[in-house]
Amino acid sequence: MRVGVCGSGGHLSTIRLRDIAAAGRHHEALDLFRHALRHSEPFVSISSILPSAILSAAALSLSPAAAQLHSLALKSGLLPADPFVLTALLSAYSRLRLLPLACRLFDEVPSSAAPTSAFNALISGHALAPVSSPAVLALFCRMRREAVPFDDVTLLALLPAAPPAAIPPLHGVAFRAALASVSSVSNCLLSCYSRVGAVDFARQLFDEMPDHRKDRISWNAMISCYAQNGLAHQVLDLFDTMEHSASVEPDAVTLIGVLSSCAYLGARSIGRKIENYISQKPSFDSNTHLKNALISLHVRCGDLARARKIFDEMPQRTIVSWTAMIAGYGMHGHGEEALRLFDKMIEVGIRPDGIAMVSVLSACSHGGLADKGMWYFSSMKTAYGVVPSREHYACVVDLLGRAGQLKEAWELIESMPVEPDGPIWGALLGACKIHKNVELAELAFEHVIELEPTNVGYYVLLSNIYSDAGRLDGVARVRAIMRQRGLKKGPGCSYVDHKGKVHLFMADDHSHPQAKNIYEMVLRLEAMVKNDSEIYGNKRKENLPLTGFHSEKLAIAFGLLNTEAGAEIVVIKNLRVCEDCHQFMKMVSQVVNRKFVVRDASRFHHFEGGACSCKDYW
Ligand SMILES: [Zn+2]
Ligand SMILES: [Zn+2]
Repeated sequence: MRVGVCGSGGHLSTIRLRDIAAAGRHHEALDLFRHALRHSEPFVSISSILPSAILSAAALSLSPAAAQLHSLALKSGLLPADPFVLTALLSAYSRLRLLPLACRLFDEVPSSAAPTSAFNALISGHALAPVSSPAVLALFCRMRREAVPFDDVTLLALLPAAPPAAIPPLHGVAFRAALASVSSVSNCLLSCYSRVGAVDFARQLFDEMPDHRKDRISWNAMISCYAQNGLAHQVLDLFDTMEHSASVEPDAVTLIGVLSSCAYLGARSIGRKIENYISQKPSFDSNTHLKNALISLHVRCGDLARARKIFDEMPQRTIVSWTAMIAGYGMHGHGEEALRLFDKMIEVGIRPDGIAMVSVLSACSHGGLADKGMWYFSSMKTAYGVVPSREHYACVVDLLGRAGQLKEAWELIESMPVEPDGPIWGALLGACKIHKNVELAELAFEHVIELEPTNVGYYVLLSNIYSDAGRLDGVARVRAIMRQRGLKKGPGCSYVDHKGKVHLFMADDHSHPQAKNIYEMVLRLEAMVKNDSEIYGNKRKENLPLTGFHSEKLAIAFGLLNTEAGAEIVVIKNLRVCEDCHQFMKMVSQVVNRKFVVRDASRFHHFEGGACSCKDYW
C-alpha cells in the first residue's frame, strides 16, 4: 500500500507515521518521513516525526540511517533538549548494540536534565548487554541522586539485569514508591527471586499479592519458580490451589510446568488428569509443546506405549518430540528401537542437534550397544555437524565403562580437548563399580569430588566399591571424609502411584496404614525367594539373609497387596537401586510371576521372569 502525505494535513501525517511505525511497517515509515522532509510540509514539525523514524531505522538494523537522523536532530537543534528525540536515539543505539554511542549521547545531557524515559532507554540497553549488572545499577543510582523519578518501566528493565544481592533492596525501593503492587512489577520480582533461587521470598511475595491482582503470569511465574528449583511437590500443590481457588485458567505454559514436575516425580495419575484436561480443549490438543511434555511424562512414568501413541498421532513433530521419544527408549533399555527412530528422524529430514545426539549415545549406553555408540560418536561431527560436548563425552565414557573398556574410557577422558567435568569422572566411577576396579575408582573419585565436593552420590559409590572389594578400611575412610565435610546420604524413598494417590515408602518406616501387612509380605517374599534355591543360584547364597527393609522392597510388597494378578507395578525411586534389592526384585518377579517397572536415579529397570532389562548394568 502506498502512503502519501500530500494533502493529509500536518497533524495527520505525524499520527499516521507513528501508527505505521508502531504496526511494524518500518520501510513505509521511513519513506513517509523522507517524503515529509523533501516536501517540507507545513505544520509538520520535524521533532514530531523524527522519533518514529529513528525507531524504525533501528528496527530495520540500519545503523547508518540512525546516525544520519542523529545528525539531523543535532542540526535542527533538538538535542539534547527534546526528550522524545533523545529517548528515541538512546533506544535505537541500545537496540543496535551501539551502547558506547548511547552513553556518549547521554553524557552530553546536562546533569538533572535527562528525563525518566531517557534513563529507562539506557538502562534497557545496558540490560541487554551480556555483562550488564554494574552498569544498570550505576544508572539507577544516578537517577536517584539526580532526583529523576523512576517508574514501572525503569524497574522492569532494571530488575532482570540486577545482581542477586540487589533484588531485595530494589524490592524495598519499589515498595516505597508504591510500584511493587503494579502487577507487571510484582510478576517481574517473582521471576527475579526465582532466577536467583530465593524460593521463599518468591512465595512470600506471591502470598502477599491480593488475589485480584494475581494474573496468569503471576501463577505461571510461581509455578516455574518451584519447577526450576526442583520443587515438584510444591508445583503440584500450587497447581491444585490454582485450579480450585484462582479466577484464572491455566494456559499451555502452566500445564507444561506442571507436566514436567509430574514427569520428574513420576506422578502418573495427576499427569493423566492433566492429559485429560488437555484433550478436552482443542487449542491445547494441537499444541506441540504440550504433546512433547506429555511424551516425556509417560516416558518418565514408565508408560512407553502411551508415549509412543501420542508421538505417532502428532500431526507435527519437532526435534524435541523425536528426542523425547528416542531418550525414552534409551532410558528403558530399548537401544535398538531408539536407533531405529533416530534413523527415521534423519529420513524425514530433521537434522539432529546436540541434545538429540546425547539421547542417541545414552540409548546405546543403556542398551549395551557399545560399537554402535562409538560409531555415532566418531561420526556425529562430520555427519551432522554436531561438535562433541562434555555431555557427549560423559555418555561415551559411560558406554565404554559399561562394556568393560575401562582403560579406553580413561584414555578418552585424558584425550579430551576440553577439561572433563563432574559427570564425566562420575561415569567412570560408576563403571568402576560395575567392574570392581578399585584403583581406577580412587583416581576417578579424586577428580570428581574436586569438581563436585558436595555430591553425596559419589562418596556412596566409592564406599560401595570398597565394600564390594572387602576393603573396610576404605569404607571407613570415605565415611570419615563425609563426616568431616558434614555430608549425609539423603534418605532413599520409593513411591507407587495407586488409584490416584501417591504412596511413599522409606526404609524401615512403619507410617503407612498397611505397614503391618506390607512388612509381613516382604518377609514372605524373602522366604519364598530363599527357599527357591534353584532360582536363587549358588552365586549369591553367601549373602543371605537379604538386607533390611529398603524402600523399594516395601513399595513392591504394597503393589502386590493392592493390585490384581497380572497388573504391572511401577515404582519410582529417588536413588539408585541397591544390588540386593535389584536381585530381590528379579527373583520376586519370577516367583510371583509379575512385571515390575522401577525407575531409579539412573534409568528404568523392567523386571520380568527373573531377569532385568538392564542386564545387571546400571
Ligand atoms: Zn535396597
Ligand atoms: Zn535392572
